[in-house]
Amino acid sequence: MTRALRRLAPALLGYLAAACGGGSSTLPPTPTPTPPVAAPVRVVIVSIDGLRPDAVQQVNPPNLSALAKKGASTWKAQTITPSNTLPSHISMLSGYPPTRHGVTWDDYLPANGAIRVPMIFSAARGSGRRTALVAGKEKFNTLRDTREMDIFVGGTRADADVAEQAAAQLFSGVDLLVVHLPDVDLSGHASSWMSAAYRDNVARADVALGRVIAALPENTTLIVTADHGGHGTGHGTTDPLDMTIPWIIAGPRIRPDYAIAGAVSTMDTAATAAFLLGLTLPTDNAGKPVLEAFAR
Ligand SMILES: [Zn+2]
Repeated sequence: MTRALRRLAPALLGYLAAACGGGSSTLPPTPTPTPPVAAPVRVVIVSIDGLRPDAVQQVNPPNLSALAKKGASTWKAQTITPSNTLPSHISMLSGYPPTRHGVTWDDYLPANGAIRVPMIFSAARGSGRRTALVAGKEKFNTLRDTREMDIFVGGTRADADVAEQAAAQLFSGVDLLVVHLPDVDLSGHASSWMSAAYRDNVARADVALGRVIAALPENTTLIVTADHGGHGTGHGTTDPLDMTIPWIIAGPRIRPDYAIAGAVSTMDTAATAAFLLGLTLPTDNAGKPVLEAFAR
């Protein structure tokens, strides 16, 4: 075959095929398969105020226990000092210790000054994510005043109400949601940590957590933790009972039924959420993503 004929051959064959009625031009076009569109990555952080890890092990609440089984967990994570609600939540959501974020008090006291560092809401919003915080105590107005989050829901009545409000935010579409359940801590102060009333409230917080879990959209990673533990009718000291908190993570990229062996700080929560969302936190951030929890 000459070179010219070789160049013409495909066209000639096509012509002949078309002339015989079997040409490709008469077949319906083959649809190009479109890859499935992955749901956007979402992160939900639930903080159960004052939840001691050994309370989870004693009460064995179904949702928390199932979540630990589904994902990776440690019962030895550590909060910051002072082991109080406001400074520790700011450390949890910023990745900075109180010496850097500046809030060492534990009430809504705007005259004392504002939070000195950005929280994860800033980085998330900066990348076009929608962010929300649903909180069960007035002192969270300190976080609200930064105006970092798109939506702040305060003035909630109890864990069940917080969970309903959180579910409403999930249905409206948020990429980063932080949920604060207040009642376990309140029962610890009223009746002492690990009392029957405290353990009842752990079970109720678990029901509220179940409401949030039921509303989670596809491709959401859930972190459940606490701001501090407690002993007697209080907390705030460096006692291990105050400092030790649960830290549970479950989601599409997380190892199932895995016990995290490495040390986890509450400040790693912001870094882990940032890692999941592909965000960059400032380089001087004290938190680090809990990479051990991720499937290889
Ligand atoms: Zn607290």
